[in-house]
Amino acid sequence: MEIRIDLAPKELRKAPELKSPPFGKIFTPHMFIMKYEEDQGWYSPEIKPFSEIKLHPAAIVLHYAQTVFEGLKVYWGIDGRIRLFRVWDHINRLNRSAERMCIPTLNSELVFEAIKTLVLIDKDWIPKEKGSALYLRPFIFATEGTLGLKVSREYLFLIIASPVGAYYKEGFDPVKIYVTEDYIRACPGGPGDVKTGGNYAASLKAQAIAQNKGYTQVLWLDAIERKYVEEVGSMNIFFYLEEELVTPMLTGSILPGITRDSVLKLAPLLGVPAKERKITIEEVIEGIERKTLKECFGTGTAAVITPVGKIFYKGRDYIINREETGKITRLFFEYITGIQYGEKEDPFKWTTLLED
Ligand SMILES: *Cc1c(COP(=O)(O)O)cnc(C)c1O
Repeated sequence: MEIRIDLAPKELRKAPELKSPPFGKIFTPHMFIMKYEEDQGWYSPEIKPFSEIKLHPAAIVLHYAQTVFEGLKVYWGIDGRIRLFRVWDHINRLNRSAERMCIPTLNSELVFEAIKTLVLIDKDWIPKEKGSALYLRPFIFATEGTLGLKVSREYLFLIIASPVGAYYKEGFDPVKIYVTEDYIRACPGGPGDVKTGGNYAASLKAQAIAQNKGYTQVLWLDAIERKYVEEVGSMNIFFYLEEELVTPMLTGSILPGITRDSVLKLAPLLGVPAKERKITIEEVIEGIERKTLKECFGTGTAAVITPVGKIFYKGRDYIINREETGKITRLFFEYITGIQYGEKEDPFKWTTLLED
């Protein structure tokens, strides 16, 4: 399928000064859009000026949340070349999420072509400062106008792009997290392992409570026993415990993060033993008290690695590594961002160079 291109007027295409733009508020002048109808399949892929979209007030997504999304980044390398990080993994995960939500999957090659074409058209909007990037948000949602609860017969797929600044403007400082025992993020059999809107709407309440108490993120426990650690906010979680990096194994209610996978794959190369297994919150607390748990961090595309310095559990705060960013945390942050900006060797060929 040929992607139709309709460029925005020249005066709208000029990029502003992009010094540490706030997350997700500024958008490039173009977007990709494609439609789906049951009897036609996906059709009319198009890149056009960024604009609002019209929706039927009974569009299924607005009422029943049939929708999925991805988040990936484009980096301006130190060599002036444009790199995508693990783009095929993001495309595959988008299709896995779609499949779970009864949304028709997309042709992966076409999605890649759409990303590439959009990024090259708006390439002046990729911030150049180290740490900043162009964040891409592909998403699909159900547009059929009906209040009947059913699988939609119509969809829209869009890709929008937003220049984002370095996550750590004031240094790489550890966050404080709050273990919630009252709320859960995901349960076995639920859609916690895919990126679908409702998961995030459902997480806001616990997040608001944590923030009101002065914590940055929620630490989520498993739904059944409230005993096993699952994720932190919308990031995966790692602990450096007894000289080994451990992260909860993927049991079906944990989102299989691509940054998580990158840490696990790089660990042996960096000489750090790493393991996926079930981890109890009691074990974490005990590790902190005995000082065998030396570091903790979250992983996700937005911040790559987020150090954790404090955990609130059952009425008490537990401090990790004097609330300082640890060596292992820093090692993975430096290595992964090094690959993304073309400073370090890319042993797994995770980056894709984009060229006109
Ligand atoms: C997106 C996401 C992550 C991180 O995934 P990455 O692929 O590393 O960006 C982790 N947990 C949740 C719930 C997520 O939505």
